[in-house]
Amino acid sequence: MKDFTQCVVTPDVNVDGFEALGVATHRASTIVFKNAEAYATRGQRGHDGYTYGLYGTPTTRTLEAKLTALEQGLRTFLVPSGQAANAIAALPFLKSGDKILIADTAYPPMRDFANQDLARFGVEVAYYDPVSIEDLTTKIDDRTKLVWCESPGSTTMEIQDLPAIADVAHRHGALVGCDNTWATPLNYKPLALGADIVTEALTKYVSGHSDLLMGSITVRSDDLITPIRATLGRFGIGVSPDDASLVLRGMETLGIRLKHAADVALVLIEWIERHPLVERVLFPTLPGTQGHEIWKRDFLGTSGVFSVVLVSDAVPHAAAALDVLKTIAIGASWGGTRSLIAPMPVRQNRTATEWKQDDLVLRISVGLEDPADLQADMEAFFAEILRRTGQAKLVRAS
Ligand SMILES: *Cc1c(COP(=O)(O)O)cnc(C)c1O
Repeated sequence: MKDFTQCVVTPDVNVDGFEALGVATHRASTIVFKNAEAYATRGQRGHDGYTYGLYGTPTTRTLEAKLTALEQGLRTFLVPSGQAANAIAALPFLKSGDKILIADTAYPPMRDFANQDLARFGVEVAYYDPVSIEDLTTKIDDRTKLVWCESPGSTTMEIQDLPAIADVAHRHGALVGCDNTWATPLNYKPLALGADIVTEALTKYVSGHSDLLMGSITVRSDDLITPIRATLGRFGIGVSPDDASLVLRGMETLGIRLKHAADVALVLIEWIERHPLVERVLFPTLPGTQGHEIWKRDFLGTSGVFSVVLVSDAVPHAAAALDVLKTIAIGASWGGTRSLIAPMPVRQNRTATEWKQDDLVLRISVGLEDPADLQADMEAFFAEILRRTGQAKLVRAS
């Protein structure tokens, strides 16, 4: 073999006995075949076979297998973001004349995708009250092909009765999809509770370090595999094995990170809840809050993301008061090692339900800092609001 050729040909090296715990990062576009027959019949390799980098490498398949096991599903697909997961979970199952029913509290870009793209393709887009089986029953019809859920709802944390929703949907021949980003597959198993498709923004808790974007789609039955896989192929959507390897690494500490964030969130909330500037805390784990009983029935644990509704007089000063924070960073997304806070508007993202409180909810994601620093930050934040209102203290209405 001449030198130039030697430079591009990969020699066989011994890999026997190399039993590493970490997963290798396999980069590939091209997959080569032993002979012409193997190439000609590559289409018969099935979902587990390898034919082209876009359709998977051992690295991405390893992550998919881990997620499939945790979700108690049949197969998982990786996509470049959590929002891509939501869009691709819906797209293959809808055509012109069909209808999609979306929980009014779904992640806002999912609403946008439905309102802009699905509607443009002739799909009727409708929203239902996430906590009203009656509203869903009124709105569902035989044209409805997908009922979209997210529990708890984005920002306002409404818990849905997934088994009851799935029951209604399946009676009308509709699929049920569920965005499981808040709970992660450790704390909620939508496929075991009646959903057909579950999506995750791996960007958040699963990868856990705020340094990449990825999403997953897991299905529970065989007939859903080919439509999703074919759509991904036609759109040319796949993920980088390097990013998949970072998710695999982050995922090893998911259980511990999530548990820590949840424990600290509960301690912080106990204190925040009693603060006179706080109207209420939205967190399904709190007894007496909406959906708490369903949360107890269906969820296996909690997460470290919660929302705070301030008293009305505090609302105009909340955004500016965030500037005093030293440890908690201002930012959207969540589930990383750094605690984050974001002022979220609600009303613009609700059409089937009415948000009666002030149109600003503070969403907080607890990270891995020392809890004392987080509490000190929140104390400084509340003190700054009081300073800005010029009042020594504010009292809540209820
Ligand atoms: C962040 C988020 C997504 C989108 O994830 P990206 O990876 O940022 O696209 C989807 N659903 C929920 C509930 C989210 O919080």
